[in-house]
Amino acid sequence: MKNFVIGVDVGGTSVKLGIVNALGNVVSRSSFATEEFMGTPEALITAIANAVLVLLQGAKPSAKDVAGIGVGLPGLIDVENGVVRILPNIPGWLDVPFKKILERKLNIPVQIENDVNMITIGEWQYGAGKGIENLICITLGTGVGAGLVLNNNIYRGPGFAAGEIGHVPLEIDGPKCGCGGWGCFERYAGHKSLQKQAAKVFKDKSITLEEVYRRAGEGKKKAIKFWDETGVLVGIGLVGVVNILNPQCIIIGGGVARSFEFLQPSIKRTIDRRAMKTQASMVEIIKARLGDDAGLIGAKVLICHEK
Ligand SMILES: [Zn+2]
Repeated sequence: MKNFVIGVDVGGTSVKLGIVNALGNVVSRSSFATEEFMGTPEALITAIANAVLVLLQGAKPSAKDVAGIGVGLPGLIDVENGVVRILPNIPGWLDVPFKKILERKLNIPVQIENDVNMITIGEWQYGAGKGIENLICITLGTGVGAGLVLNNNIYRGPGFAAGEIGHVPLEIDGPKCGCGGWGCFERYAGHKSLQKQAAKVFKDKSITLEEVYRRAGEGKKKAIKFWDETGVLVGIGLVGVVNILNPQCIIIGGGVARSFEFLQPSIKRTIDRRAMKTQASMVEIIKARLGDDAGLIGAKVLICHEK
């Protein structure tokens, strides 16, 4: 029986791999640094193929127990054709037939997907979103992304580009953004901007968000206020999608979600105040549950639940 899948999570700094069992648990894992193989797409795909072979070497399960490989990539992914359209942060990736190349190397079926969508489907089927038919999963990190589950299906849009919540404008003017717009949500709630804000508030250029989180945990008022104000920002960024999509829950993931307990009350308060009554009363703000494994576990959903 092909009860296992292999999940591959390609990030800007590392590529993580894991064997996922029938219950959606990661039973074996490995990783390598992305940087060494950034030269060409072919080099990175070969490195992934080799890492898969090493992971399956002498192991139980072996290749014959694997139903498929699900790969999450940080960019615009043509899921139907298995083609990476573009990876904005990894140079040289333009219209790469990833699925075809990796399948030829390994002779195992491959599906590829946007990394935030992988996290979303993982959380939806095996994590915080279990049993929920309409949800938004947002990742707060260097970038601010989102995956949408609507009527029990992942919604990708006709160009596979839906869910770019980080580029919802919050201001008529406002700072320029890499996407070509300005005043985008990400320019306020992205990791870099929060770091800058923390440096200003605490008058310490080297302070990290981890440190601000630690201080909040110790009950320090200034740190708690920092996260409360960040929650207001995140809440404002979400009001529009709450009004438009009427989701049952919003799952908060990504590195910044570590501070969820300090963010949640002000996110909820802001949505209650500013979103429309019906939508606001129906939406729950919950914390992602699968942590760094969400992208790997998403592979299980990609391979086994979708065509
Ligand atoms: Zn933008």
